[in-house]
Amino acid sequence: MPASRRPEAVRELEALQQQERKGAGEPMLTHEDFLRLLREDIQKELISDRLDSGGLAAVIEGAGADEELVEQIFAARLNKWRLDDPSQWSRYETPGSLFGIANVCARIETVFANHDWRLPELPAVGTLTTGQVSAVTQKTSIGAPLVLIDNGFFKFSGIMSQLAVFSSYDTQVRGHFSEGTYQLVSDLVATHTVLNTCLYVYPRKTPPEYQTHVANLVDALILFVISHEYAHITAGDLDAHPFKGSQSDSDLRSKEFEADKIGFITVVEATADTDTTGSAVFGPFLYFAGLDLLSRAAAAYQGRAASYESTASPSEYPTSYERTVNLLDWLETSPYVPRFQDQIRVASACYNIILSVWDEILPVFWDARQELSAADPALHGPSPRLPEVDTQYVVGTLWSRVLAHLRQT
Ligand SMILES: [Zn+2]
Repeated sequence: MPASRRPEAVRELEALQQQERKGAGEPMLTHEDFLRLLREDIQKELISDRLDSGGLAAVIEGAGADEELVEQIFAARLNKWRLDDPSQWSRYETPGSLFGIANVCARIETVFANHDWRLPELPAVGTLTTGQVSAVTQKTSIGAPLVLIDNGFFKFSGIMSQLAVFSSYDTQVRGHFSEGTYQLVSDLVATHTVLNTCLYVYPRKTPPEYQTHVANLVDALILFVISHEYAHITAGDLDAHPFKGSQSDSDLRSKEFEADKIGFITVVEATADTDTTGSAVFGPFLYFAGLDLLSRAAAAYQGRAASYESTASPSEYPTSYERTVNLLDWLETSPYVPRFQDQIRVASACYNIILSVWDEILPVFWDARQELSAADPALHGPSPRLPEVDTQYVVGTLWSRVLAHLRQT
């Protein structure tokens, strides 16, 4: 297993990020800034852990003792993944985002090494606005792999994971969806269809008793998507995604299905030590449900009925529904049944539950299209407002209509 990423590929990643972030006025982090932010992140984590476990009293009591602990964690994080090494990681990434990316990549690389799934070289990995709630792999000018994660993807994963927990609870316990569940779908579709990102959605609170479960689902979803990209690198197809070029690829469908299987195996193995309830299985299903939901919302926004048909031509990118069916078919004869039989059943049911929340919001969204499109940059050009302001507009517009609809029925 190669131990490092090619510095030239990391520089190309930074160049892409620089173009994008110059517009937003975000500078490259200096080494000192990076270290300061990393230390602050760790302090915040410790404070929030203490708040959860013992309230404000525990925070005050722990303040002195934490200083040493912060330094220990700080040193460990820097050493473990060479987080502050600019030959390995982009200096446009915040420590928080980089910590998440490096952690996921390291676990995926371990699983790949265990299977002897050979990576010709480690990819440079970073975030960029791609407008797709996903990650894509492309080749740099020197031929090195580069994995670009949409900068709204982590937020999307959080929303989908909360949605899985809330909507399943509603179905099993309440017998109807709660406002919190509708709100998650409403916020996601309003921002993503009109503004092309859910990055600026204000996060909903997760009740403390569900926080671990939601965090495990987020982890599974992110691991699945990024290991799917690693699978493409191993297979040598560096441009296999639906957004660029590869239409002439006659094996596109089978390549996608194959990468999904590797993604599934990777999530299960990368979480084997921490995941005691089988959350790993939800990773692919939640991701596919989110893609399906957003493609239905995009169709509605354009004023057309969602099309579920596919020509099933080998060169056509499979729909998320087809990827789900294909994964289920493969699982049936895999060693993961019977071990995960219950989780597979619940996870694929969860896909349908999430889409049934959308079915109820669809007519309201349809009627709100005109009003929502007032903030659409595709119609009116780049917005002169802060992204948070536009987000608040589309979220507020759709949610007030959904709420009125729910109170009527
Ligand atoms: Zn793919």
